[in-house]
Amino acid sequence: GHALVPYGQGRIRGLDAGELGTHGIAMDRLVALGLPVVPGLTVPAGAAGTLCEPETARAALELVEQLSGRQIGDRGRPLLLRLSASASTEVAGLPPDLACIGVTAANAGDLCAVIGREEALYEVWAATVRMIAEYALDVPGPELDDALLDAPDPKARVDALLSTIARHGARPFPDDPAEQLALAARAVRGRWASPRARRSRKAQRLPADLGIALHVQAVRIGPSDLSGYGTAVSRHPESGRFAPQGSFFRGVRRSAPPPHTGEPLEKIGGGITLLEHSLLTLERHLHAPVSVDFEVRDGEVSLLAASAQSHPPLRASVCLAADLAGDGTLRPEEAVRRVGPAQVQELLHPRLRLTGAEELLVQGLPASPGAAAGAIVLSSERALELGAAGTPAVLVAHETTPADVPGMLAASAVLTGSGGIASHAAVVARGAGRPAVCGAEGLRVDRAAGTVRIGDRLLREGDPVSLDGRTGTVYAGTLPVTLADPPPELSTLLEWADGVRRLGVRVNADTAAEVNTAVALGAEGVGLCRTEHQFLGERLPLIRRVILAADPDARTEALLALEHAQHEDFRALLSAVGDRPVTVRLLDAPLHEFLPAPGDAGDDAAEQRAAALREANPMLGLRGVRLALLHEGLYPAQAEALFTAWADVAATGVRPELEVMIPLVSLPEELAAAAAYVRGAAEAVASRTGVEVPYRLGTMIETPRAALMAAELAEHAEFFSFGTNDLTQLTYGFSRDDVERQVLASYLDRGFLTASPFARLDPHGVGALIALAAERARRVRPDIKLGVCGEHGGDPESIALCDELGLDYVSCSAHRVPVARMAAAHSAL
Ligand code: PEP
Ligand code: MG
Repeated sequence: GHALVPYGQGRIRGLDAGELGTHGIAMDRLVALGLPVVPGLTVPAGAAGTLCEPETARAALELVEQLSGRQIGDRGRPLLLRLSASASTEVAGLPPDLACIGVTAANAGDLCAVIGREEALYEVWAATVRMIAEYALDVPGPELDDALLDAPDPKARVDALLSTIARHGARPFPDDPAEQLALAARAVRGRWASPRARRSRKAQRLPADLGIALHVQAVRIGPSDLSGYGTAVSRHPESGRFAPQGSFFRGVRRSAPPPHTGEPLEKIGGGITLLEHSLLTLERHLHAPVSVDFEVRDGEVSLLAASAQSHPPLRASVCLAADLAGDGTLRPEEAVRRVGPAQVQELLHPRLRLTGAEELLVQGLPASPGAAAGAIVLSSERALELGAAGTPAVLVAHETTPADVPGMLAASAVLTGSGGIASHAAVVARGAGRPAVCGAEGLRVDRAAGTVRIGDRLLREGDPVSLDGRTGTVYAGTLPVTLADPPPELSTLLEWADGVRRLGVRVNADTAAEVNTAVALGAEGVGLCRTEHQFLGERLPLIRRVILAADPDARTEALLALEHAQHEDFRALLSAVGDRPVTVRLLDAPLHEFLPAPGDAGDDAAEQRAAALREANPMLGLRGVRLALLHEGLYPAQAEALFTAWADVAATGVRPELEVMIPLVSLPEELAAAAAYVRGAAEAVASRTGVEVPYRLGTMIETPRAALMAAELAEHAEFFSFGTNDLTQLTYGFSRDDVERQVLASYLDRGFLTASPFARLDPHGVGALIALAAERARRVRPDIKLGVCGEHGGDPESIALCDELGLDYVSCSAHRVPVARMAAAHSAL
């Protein structure tokens, strides 16, 4: 019947995992793959009880003798048996292996002589005897514990156990190997049936009566210099490349993990070739990084167990996926399926190397991924000083303003006490690829005193902190940072991902440098150039002068200066863009970000003009197209600079696909008026330079009304870009700048929301508005191009939603472009 099934014959005999156990299945697979396995057999779960009978045990023993070509008791080439158990799935709490069955008073001396190290044998034998005593011979555990107390070495432990069994056991420990095996089977099954083991299965939601298969394996004893055992994984954990790693131990294999780390694999000598071949074959078969247990017998390797590695290092999985598709084992899209956007993100950003002993200062919002350590600086000036000196700095502020941008760029990381993940600090940090933690509760900056209070900790400017912008954690001190060093295989996978995805991926970039970074990371074009970002830092006065101009002459002069500066910016930007598409958004300058602080305007008259412009709700006030309609020279100046720059660049042979975009529109009339400014500028440039600049005109959809008026807006717009930051802000009525701190924190706690809608696009409300706008717009203009350029464009779940909504592209910060490419591919798979 099926009572004794040699390794490799289970499936041939029609047995499944329930009968063969995971180990039987694994050994079958190894045999089928032609790999060397240790000789042995399985007693299927349904027949496992029969192994407790001496006749079956004797038959099993003889079969293993036959399979291994050795005999128990042979002095020159001795053999022992190992008994193990496995269930149909991986289970915690399996009985330990009994690794030393067949030692008798008569052969122990010979065995020790062959191995060359007495303790190696006795240690393993003692463990076997103890379990048999407790679970098959009914010796009370405490008696056994007492007996072991005074035993000075492994041999003495065996002697003590044997005499305790003689005194307290149901019968003496047998000298006959077959009887030992029968008792060992009884012990393993007894342990599996114990109340403790049943409780453990219940906790794992496994049936209490789950069966186990038993496995009898040959233990071929040999001299320690040529024999031993070990474990190996297929890939190097750091590089991810195929490069077997592991440990080799001399002597008899224990059931407990060895107490020391063992020797490197090279020590097994020529057998390593077969080991490597086995690992490679298994990877090709299991499509996963693999681990094996192996035995070395007289220099020859055979496998004891093999499986897909649990929790393989990320780099190993990524490199393997690329390798498998590279050699045709997988199709490229199958390889892409194996690497998710979160894993791409993990490979691309530096991280803190944590040991668990760090002091967590504060947990804030994960505003921009990456990790850095540096000295606290409390001003942009100080950040610039340290930056110039090459000293890493962490810019700490209550919140940041456009004036802080140069400091943010000079710093290695940014930490703010207020502000959400769509706040100024977060957006700028993500764009620049600086890690940032925002909205860190309880952070108090005292610039005058040069101190930061975080909870009850008082830190001074210059004190070191470390932060991880992916998790939002901030630690005291300088922690080691693991730099991002993605394997080249990632680029290959991303190229395959590009072949899979439908959705385009563009970048939100304001400068030529950002465009270059993004193009290298795979961006297909620029989805949003925020022109107001070209006036940050020391260029702020250029916009300020336009807004605060005392009279028409001053305004004209200010506009000329602005146009001149923009011309240079655009030329650099368009050259970097090349023949790709580029969406340039005309100015969307929220006034509060560009007005001088009270007292800083210059003279009294300017002070008064500034005061008159201050608003209670600046994000709902004079910004976007509204500012352009009040300062009518603004958009023409920008558009002329842009078109002139295009003509300049076209003369060098590149033709960027120019898209001019109007922000914060709610009324079709606003868009029509702004479009007229742009057309006028194009005509002016054409008559001045003779170049008719080809461009498309479009609008952002950032207000609920704009979404609802999509049909009317589409009359004037050749493309829409959904500004989901503002659209989310205005749809919920949640301030994008600071709602996270209290309201969202509470809503997340209550389970009203599972993520900030500024991080993950709300599919029900905001998503419905986008769907509605897309539908209405396409009815008017079927070929209208639709994209998303809010911060959601870099979030995998939001990207999947954009794909479902049938948008044409997403646009995100440069450093998230690879994540977006992979997310778009996964959405299409
Ligand atoms: C938006 O609102 O989503 C957007 C992209 O514009 P900004 O973030 O510049 O307001
Ligand atoms: Mg906006």
